Amino acid sequence: MVLHRAGEALRLEDVPVPEPRPGQVRLQVSACGVCRTDLHVVDGELARPKLPLVPGHQVVGRMEDGRRLGVPWLGWTDGTCRYCLSGRENLCESARFTGYDLDGGYAEWVVADEGYCLPIPDEYDDVQAAPLLCAGLIGYRSLRLAGDPERLGLYGFGSSAHIVVQVARHEGRRVFGFVRPGDEAAAMFALELGCEWAGPSDERAPEELDAAIIFAPVGELVPAALRAVARGGIVVCAGIHMSDIPTFPYELLWEERVIRSVANLTRRDGEEFLALAPRVPVRTEVEEIPLEQANEALERLRSGQIQGAAVLRVD
Ligand SMILES: [Zn+2]
Ligand SMILES: [Zn+2]
Repeated sequence: MVLHRAGEALRLEDVPVPEPRPGQVRLQVSACGVCRTDLHVVDGELARPKLPLVPGHQVVGRMEDGRRLGVPWLGWTDGTCRYCLSGRENLCESARFTGYDLDGGYAEWVVADEGYCLPIPDEYDDVQAAPLLCAGLIGYRSLRLAGDPERLGLYGFGSSAHIVVQVARHEGRRVFGFVRPGDEAAAMFALELGCEWAGPSDERAPEELDAAIIFAPVGELVPAALRAVARGGIVVCAGIHMSDIPTFPYELLWEERVIRSVANLTRRDGEEFLALAPRVPVRTEVEEIPLEQANEALERLRSGQIQGAAVLRVD
């Protein structure tokens, strides 16, 4: 499924099977998770995707010898810039990202640099594993950057939040879920997964929070989350794109409240999270959609109709 121009639908096309270069592996794709970032790429909200492009960066596939690997968003780094050399390859100035700079997993075949592929834990089948590779990974990194909160708020209860709530509960945290106003189904889903409270994002939580993670791409949620956190509280913006943040009084940031973003992932995040996931154990709620219906999957994600994660199935 190929993107030729931002704002257009993906096109189902026959393309040559990609040839791996030295250091790369070729995988036969069996499943690829649909991420909100894919939507931002297709909608033209991110500046510079390669075109034409095969999107998709939560790829599960197999090498010719049957070995199963996952291909995440971080596809390549230079290993030499000041960020790479200080353990922050997620910020590498020359990084290449899967399904953005490099063709991704909305396809039957993908090539990827072997050093950036992640082994998939045996406990998961291909479809269940796919959302771990970005929703899970970025969610995990966001949770680590939220400090050590006793009371954690999650804004936007999509594929990342549905995984993070399980990890946070496993760590003994109390979790409060904020959903799109009027989305009763999402509130129910948040409660089922272990939130002790779930309500619309324009409502106050029943008590102060120690940290909040914003997954929804909605700038208005930043001042809302700052209002919800206690002194010293941390607000983490987990998405790659967000609408403009409205101005707000300095008072909301005062008392050592912190706002920060999360960008990309390191391979270490991947190793840590994929070791932790089966121990929680994280269970992913997945809606399987055939690859050739990728446009429908993106549309359903855009309109908030996916509960948990959407995964494209490649047969
Ligand atoms: Zn670098
Ligand atoms: Zn993603």
